[in-house]
Amino acid sequence: MKSLCRVLLASTLALAATGSAPLAAKVRIMATVFPLREFAAAVAGDRGETELLLPPGAVVHTWQPRPGDIRKLAECHLLLFIGANLEPWLPGMVKALPGGKVRTFEATEGLALIEGDEASGHDHGVMDPHVWLDFELDARIVRKIADELSLIDPDGRPVFMANAEKLIARLRDLDAKFRNGLAGCRSKDIVLAGHGAFGYLARRYGLVQTALYGLSPDAQPRPLDLMNAVDYCRRRGIRTIFFENSVAPDLSRTLAREIGGRILVLHAGHNLTRDEQDRGVGFFELMEENLNSLRDGLGCR
Ligand SMILES: [Zn+2]
Repeated sequence: MKSLCRVLLASTLALAATGSAPLAAKVRIMATVFPLREFAAAVAGDRGETELLLPPGAVVHTWQPRPGDIRKLAECHLLLFIGANLEPWLPGMVKALPGGKVRTFEATEGLALIEGDEASGHDHGVMDPHVWLDFELDARIVRKIADELSLIDPDGRPVFMANAEKLIARLRDLDAKFRNGLAGCRSKDIVLAGHGAFGYLARRYGLVQTALYGLSPDAQPRPLDLMNAVDYCRRRGIRTIFFENSVAPDLSRTLAREIGGRILVLHAGHNLTRDEQDRGVGFFELMEENLNSLRDGLGCR
C-alpha cells in the first residue's frame, strides 16, 4: 500500500509538472466519518481506494490520532472531513503531516449550518456538524466530492460525474421515503439519550430533537437534565426514548423506566462498530433502520 501511494504521489507531481500525464493508479482517499467514506467509494468507483481514518468504534468527537495515523494520512491524495469542529484533533494532525501535501475537503464549507442551541438547548453559539443526516445536503456534498476527484484524476471526470448522479438519485429516494414515512405521526418528539446528532434530520422532516448530551458525547448530562427530560416526556405523553448503538444503553433504560416507556436504537452513523464493519453494513441500510425506528417510536401511520 505504501509503495502504491508513492507511485500515486509521483504521478500527481508529474501531472502538475507537465499538465498532461494521466494518473497511473487509483486515487487514494481518506475520510474521517463513515458517510463520507461511503459517498467517496460510490463516486470514485474502480478509480479510487477509500479508507476510514478512525478504527472501528472510535468516537470522532474525542479521538486522538497516533503517529501511525499521521503517516497513513500523509500517503494519500485526498482527505475528506466534516469540519465545524467535529474533528477538533484534525488541525494539529494536518500540521504534523511530513513533507507531502494532501488535498483536504471540508464537507460543511458553504452549507447553512444549524446552531447548537436551536437544536437542543445546549451548545449556544456552536455549530452542529452532523450535516450527513440531511440527505439534501449530502447530495451537495457528493457533487463536490466528484469535483475534488476530477481535479486529482481529470480522465476520471465522466465516471465520477455519472457515479455522483446515481448516488444523488438514491439520496433523493431516501429523502422521499423519510418525508412520506414521517408524515402523519402521533408524535414529533425525538427524545435522545445521547448527543444531539439528529438536528438536521429533525429540521428537514419537521421533528423536534431533545438530546441529553448536547452536540458532543463527551459531557455527561447533569441530574437536572435527566429530571427535566423525565418531566418533558411526562407532560407530552412521550413513551419512547431513542439511544445510539455506540453508547451503553444504561441512561436510556433509566429514563425509559422513569416514564414507563421503552428504548429504540438510532444510528447517527459517524463510524461503524467492528461487528457492523464485518457485516458490510452500508449508509443506506443504517438510514432505513433509522426510519423504521422513528416510524415505530413516533407512532406513524
Ligand atoms: Zn456526533
